[in-house]
Amino acid sequence: MLNFTVGPVHSDDIVKEIGAQDVPYFRTAEFSEVMLENERLMLKFANASKGSRAVFMTNSSTGSMEAVVMNCFSESDKVLVIDGGSFGHRFAELCEIHNIPYAALKLECGKKLTKEKLYEYDGQAFTGLLVNIDETSTGVLYDSEMIGEFCRKNDLFYVCDCVSSFLADPFDMTHCGADVMITGSQKVLACPPGVSIIVLSPRATERVINAKVKTMYFNLADMLKNMERGQTPFTPAVGILLQINARLKEIEKVGGADSEIARVAAQAADFRSKITDLPFEYVSQSPANGVTSLHPVNADAYKIFELLKNEYGIWICPNGGNMKNTVFRVGHIGALTHKDNTTLVNAFKDLQVRGILN
Ligand SMILES: *Cc1c(COP(=O)(O)O)cnc(C)c1O
Repeated sequence: MLNFTVGPVHSDDIVKEIGAQDVPYFRTAEFSEVMLENERLMLKFANASKGSRAVFMTNSSTGSMEAVVMNCFSESDKVLVIDGGSFGHRFAELCEIHNIPYAALKLECGKKLTKEKLYEYDGQAFTGLLVNIDETSTGVLYDSEMIGEFCRKNDLFYVCDCVSSFLADPFDMTHCGADVMITGSQKVLACPPGVSIIVLSPRATERVINAKVKTMYFNLADMLKNMERGQTPFTPAVGILLQINARLKEIEKVGGADSEIARVAAQAADFRSKITDLPFEYVSQSPANGVTSLHPVNADAYKIFELLKNEYGIWICPNGGNMKNTVFRVGHIGALTHKDNTTLVNAFKDLQVRGILN
């Protein structure tokens, strides 16, 4: 199968080789070293400020979104949720579940967040802001710097879900002033799903340590305390953490975050340049590098997904909900090449010849 979804994605050989090995015991100095190196490289690639910390959660990234909501906010907060799609909506649902007062800034599908729209919420006694920097359901990239400026002005605790944008689009945690950055193993890190990483600024670290939170598994203070010695309170997904280590070191070797971002950007640009003659409309006003959301003009999006999967051995990413039949997404993350883009575009052209796309 050729995989153009937005996760899990193709892994490179180094990552796959580790996946074929036995999983080692982990309460060892050697594994602690790996974990501390993972932390160091994550902080570097996010350009986190001095004194920032990272924790490695054994859960999918929704678990980390929930852990952040639980550990960083309380009933005395009032947070603003940027709700421009299913991932933004997830933050609103989490606030609802955990009784965090919130307001949702709703955006129409595919629309970017303008400064004008955001500043309608200026000076309204909010205490925090939650945003998915790439709203992966539509592929809209929000401006982390513009939002950061708003947060600074209003003294908001700023949480960035960068699950699909970390290492795909430029993100500078120090410069934009984010307090929390979340990402996951199965997106641009191109490892199996199961680990999610939370980077905490010094201010976030302090907040988490002082939080009174009723949870054992999602207790970030406990995670931070264990991470001082490169460990986790409970058995982590050891194999995936070793794969993440190999991947981070490999990215470091070829030039760091910027080189990976450039690679993903080039993969996206190549695909977009090859579909100019196809009957597709862009869904996103400000497309992220990691994914292209497309509306096939006179065809059923879900049918295209199924035909590509069943007859061409190619996975694209279907959309859910009310976009199921109108939108599909093509990912540009993982071990894909420009030649793979050509294979996909040729399959689209074949669907055109067959009269399915027109
Ligand atoms: C993939 C993704 C998540 C996490 O989804 P999981 O299924 O929990 O891994 C969260 N936010 C965004 C923006 C994503 O792209």
